[in-house]
Amino acid sequence: MTSPHGASASAVALRIDLHAHSTASDGTASPTLFVQTAAAAGLNVIALTDHDTVAGVAEAVAAAVPLGVRVVPGVELSVMDGKEEVHLLGLHLANVDAIADALVTFQHGRTTRAESMVAILNANAVPVTMDDVLREAAGGAVGRPHVARALIAGGWVGDQREAFDRWLGAGRPAYVEKPRLDVADGVELVHKAGGLAIWAHPGDDGRRARFERLVAAGIDGAEVRHPGHSASDTVRLAALVEFFNLVPSGGSDWHGAMGGPRVLGALQVPPEWLQLQEERLAMRRTAVPVIES
Ligand code: AMP
Ligand code: ZN
Ligand code: FE
Ligand code: FE
Repeated sequence: MTSPHGASASAVALRIDLHAHSTASDGTASPTLFVQTAAAAGLNVIALTDHDTVAGVAEAVAAAVPLGVRVVPGVELSVMDGKEEVHLLGLHLANVDAIADALVTFQHGRTTRAESMVAILNANAVPVTMDDVLREAAGGAVGRPHVARALIAGGWVGDQREAFDRWLGAGRPAYVEKPRLDVADGVELVHKAGGLAIWAHPGDDGRRARFERLVAAGIDGAEVRHPGHSASDTVRLAALVEFFNLVPSGGSDWHGAMGGPRVLGALQVPPEWLQLQEERLAMRRTAVPVIES
């Protein structure tokens, strides 16, 4: 991906990561600890992209001010592309409040779904309780990782991997679908909140036909750099993003680990990509006038 702008001195100094989770969803670090950890890792532009919630954004923004870090308000939505689940990042959300109301439904749906998972586990002689799960979620949007942590805490499985392999992974006995928007509706939600809709970690699914469908649904971009991508995924996705005139993005998809492949700062986005995103936002704002009603 080439930038038409060359390298400006300030842009070169930026260290950027545009995908991370906090305790507002299934991360283990609070939004404040997220920002502090990012600053300590030398990052200066970071996006908080919790699953189906923007509840952590205000805290992250406040924590970032004294540290001189820029927080990009974001979210990661689970949406449906036909029968397949796709993750959609909303980045640069100018109006977090606009999206917050719409997301409440999905947070309720996640809680109801966790109740169904607990019921199935109970029927399978695993006496985990909803209280155990909610304790792990600590008020955040409930996800399978919280159920996994409750199973680990109760000694019913050894680790998260076993929890997903035995019970929680797609097609496993305690897997329950969560309510999901159609991808075009997810894109619309992100656009209404003034953000860019980015296909998260396309991975091996990121092929031309799939891109065509998602471009038709209105996406602005796709993640090229992600710890789940192989080297060949990264090369192919960069080419497809350019071919479809989309903006590239990426990040560590940090969930709170202090080591390993998803550590904060290990995966960075070139400053040119952020610049392309900002140009796209500017285009979107002039092309689609916001009419106050
Ligand atoms: P949910 O949105 O509640 O379905 O949970 C999705 C989250 O579960 C992902 O963001 C990952 O953090 C985690 N996850 C999904 N599949 C696995 C797996 N096979 N092993 C470990 N964690 C997983
Ligand atoms: Zn997650
Ligand atoms: Fe994801
Ligand atoms: Fe994620």
